[in-house]
Amino acid sequence: MDKGALASALGAPSAFGQSQFAFVRGNAFEARVKADGGAELLRLVHERLDPGAAPPADARVPELTATGPRGRAARTELALGEASAAGAWTLLDHPMLALDVAGSPAFLEPDAVVVHPDGSWTVVEIKSFPMLDGSADPAKVGAAARQAAVYVLALEELAARLDPVPPVRHRALLVCPKDFSNLPTASAVDVRKQRAVTSRQLARLTRIEEIADALPEGVCFAPDLPAEELTAAVESVPAAYAPECLSACELAFHCRARSRADGAVTALGRPVRAELGGLTTVADVLAAARGETGDPADPAVAALRRAAALRAEALEAACR
Ligand code: SF4
Repeated sequence: MDKGALASALGAPSAFGQSQFAFVRGNAFEARVKADGGAELLRLVHERLDPGAAPPADARVPELTATGPRGRAARTELALGEASAAGAWTLLDHPMLALDVAGSPAFLEPDAVVVHPDGSWTVVEIKSFPMLDGSADPAKVGAAARQAAVYVLALEELAARLDPVPPVRHRALLVCPKDFSNLPTASAVDVRKQRAVTSRQLARLTRIEEIADALPEGVCFAPDLPAEELTAAVESVPAAYAPECLSACELAFHCRARSRADGAVTALGRPVRAELGGLTTVADVLAAARGETGDPADPAVAALRRAAALRAEALEAACR
């Protein structure tokens, strides 16, 4: 389902994604990198990943427009097959790839895929965070590597359907602004580890049919349902909101409001939840701290009572 549309229909639209400013800046930088038929981008791929090949003059940039994600994915597959067979530098600008996720196709759109003269394929990710003196923020590079690894897996799925099977390179090209300028610079990123981890995670995912089977009978999340019916449908499925959801899930605002209304301690963060053992609501925690409920032998209850006693002592001292 489209969780963004669901969140809006529930009255808690997500603020998930980039700020408008970052979005515009990122688009302007990407347009610059891909200007003139991707000349600069191809120069960077040649320089950083394939210096032994002929320089990428007159590279091909096939048209990839088609109707819907399935149409675009089919067009991409055709273009990649033709480019590999032609043995010429080719830039695929925003191709569409399909990856099997828990038995369902997920459509993915890398910034670019480059086909080398030897027929191999490279994933290119264009980011707007700066590369200072040749290195960028490791957390951001890590996130870009994980993203590129998913594209590599999708390309490998596609390549396996072609004959001969073109090699998919496990070093992606990360293109970023150089220092504080708007000039592009690039670095090759080895994504073998991220690819292996993602592949294992995908293999372990519960099949979508099994998840659907576990849902209550007749439950439906169509965003055009009346708000009350939709809210009841979402509430019928347990959720364990944590602040980490804010940067990862479109339903975060809805789940946060629900979690706060329930007084769930997970809203304070998973580490807090882990420290509190069997106490799952703020009301339980306060009652335990006041000595009204809870087993004094429970380390969480004992720690809460000690904290409450210290707080009372501190307040008394401050009032004296
Ligand atoms: S609990 Fe978190 S991950 Fe699950 S639906 Fe809610 S916001 Fe999304």
